[in-house]
Amino acid sequence: MNHQKSIALVAHDNRKRDLIEWVSWNHAILAEHNLVCTGTTGRLVELALARQALETEGTFPTPGIQKLKSGPLGGDQQLGALISEGKIDVVIFFWDPMQPHPHDVDVKALLRIAVVYNIPIACTRSTADFLISSPLMTRPYEPAVTDYTAYMGRKVEGDPLPAEAL
Ligand code: PGA
Repeated sequence: MNHQKSIALVAHDNRKRDLIEWVSWNHAILAEHNLVCTGTTGRLVELALARQALETEGTFPTPGIQKLKSGPLGGDQQLGALISEGKIDVVIFFWDPMQPHPHDVDVKALLRIAVVYNIPIACTRSTADFLISSPLMTRPYEPAVTDYTAYMGRKVEGDPLPAEAL
């Protein structure tokens, strides 16, 4: 991770207002990083940032953000894939603790893959506040990742190659 981070922003419908408020509050900091969002969240974030830019700097439009598919249509999985490729540094994910979702398994998978790769992930607004104000946001940082070599080289029944050959 270098000083400019790739920040993923995702919010479930009942948490979108919260996220948009948070984004508007932190728009100046967020403008220094790359933003990646699931589809609907991305559309709202884009509008909020454009409004802020217009109000505070009189400029329009703001730098583009990368919009993935909508979460239930595969956006959470796309984000998980980006994390596994080392393309996401920070995740702000305001998930809804009060409602089941059709893509609950994707949500769980996203949370899991963020832990596998030791990505900072904020699921509450207060954690997001702590994260965004961390000095590490503007410094190079390498998350310590578990060494999965032994797992990759494990013996699997039916594997023609001995584990040592992998
Ligand atoms: P959305 O997806 O931004 O397209 O609403 C978010 C989610 O439900 O994961």
